[in-house]
Amino acid sequence: MTPSGRSGPTIRLGRRHRGARAHPWIYRNEIAAVEGEPDAGGIVTVRGGDGELLGRGFYNPRTSLACRLVTRRDEAVDAELFFRRIQAAIDHRRSLGARDAMRVIWSEADGLPGLVADRYGDVVVLQCLTLGMSRALPWIAAGLRATLGDLPIFLSDDPTAARLEGFGARQEWLDQVGPSAIEIREGACRFMVRPGLGHKTGFYLDQADNRQLVARRAVGRPVLDAFCYVGAFAVHALHGGATHALLLDSSAAALAEAQVNLELNELAGRAELRQANAFDELRRLEGDGARFGVVILDPPPFTRRKEALDAAARGYKEINLRAMRLLEHRGLLATFSCSHHVSPARFEEICREAAGDAGVLLRVIRSLTQSPDHPILLTVPETRYLKGLLLERL
Ligand code: SAH
Repeated sequence: MTPSGRSGPTIRLGRRHRGARAHPWIYRNEIAAVEGEPDAGGIVTVRGGDGELLGRGFYNPRTSLACRLVTRRDEAVDAELFFRRIQAAIDHRRSLGARDAMRVIWSEADGLPGLVADRYGDVVVLQCLTLGMSRALPWIAAGLRATLGDLPIFLSDDPTAARLEGFGARQEWLDQVGPSAIEIREGACRFMVRPGLGHKTGFYLDQADNRQLVARRAVGRPVLDAFCYVGAFAVHALHGGATHALLLDSSAAALAEAQVNLELNELAGRAELRQANAFDELRRLEGDGARFGVVILDPPPFTRRKEALDAAARGYKEINLRAMRLLEHRGLLATFSCSHHVSPARFEEICREAAGDAGVLLRVIRSLTQSPDHPILLTVPETRYLKGLLLERL
């Protein structure tokens, strides 16, 4: 990819545009003029209505989010800038303490919008979410290897993002072939991660701290892990001393991996796996009079679109209401939403309404969010995407 310079194509924003200095996203309808002939996925200089320089970023006229700023300075976007950003991202992770598996680059939060890199032991799994980032792959690989060593890199692009942005999603090793399964440690537990299989880059790293927090409070209690995926919450809870765990998921493949993880930690004897729709199963359990000391609700995003927010809110309310009724006295509910369009305040409101309808009194033990290897930028509220509450039934 050609590095950008001073004389490259430029987009000018309308006079009313505000906040480009604090937020890296520029929508198509904010652009007043395009000068030169920017490539889709190429780099453009961005100027405000008065001609002032706002920065440089990746341009894509196909999507309504037409430009993501990479720098706010008058500097070239090139391999050297990528190297500095990658190094800064990894330095920050080192300051958080070494982990066997962690997110090392997180998009806007690390000044590399559209790029995700997760480290699993001696493998890096990369996800390019924009056309620009997919074209910058040589810079990314060089920067990662200069910082972390010559590790195998697996490309695990998101097909939906790739289709919207206009590039071919790749699911393959970049060059050197690494292992098809990697055993990672998270706290005191072990998990199998298979690059290219499952959700995200293979594992929900964002819940690492919440899993350990819940495990510390699960001692001596029966646990329900609804939406369990590969069973990571249940494994931690059982390892921490929970008496028994019921794991629910609608996906047989996820449950098969959960079984592998339970066995890896010698916990399968205290676990029961059930393939079910959590909406139906929570209602059924309530009808049967079941009770749990800890319930974990970590559903997928019920909406990726703003317009479907009300339907999503009804879904969250329904599962929370059922889960609250399943709690024994002093039982704990760890409930989450990863929908970008549900704000922390809205999520709390949904839980409040669910508690009102369920007729239960709950104490807020803690507000929860993603683990710190998924940093939050104050001026980019979208980076605080994981909302959670730890609630205790009184
Ligand atoms: N808590 C997990 C991540 C959960 S991801 C962890 O820490 O790793 C959400 C999971 O919900 C996925 O595994 C998906 O298969 C499952 N799922 C989606 N819709 C469901 C439904 N209606 N009922 C049960 N499981 C569902």
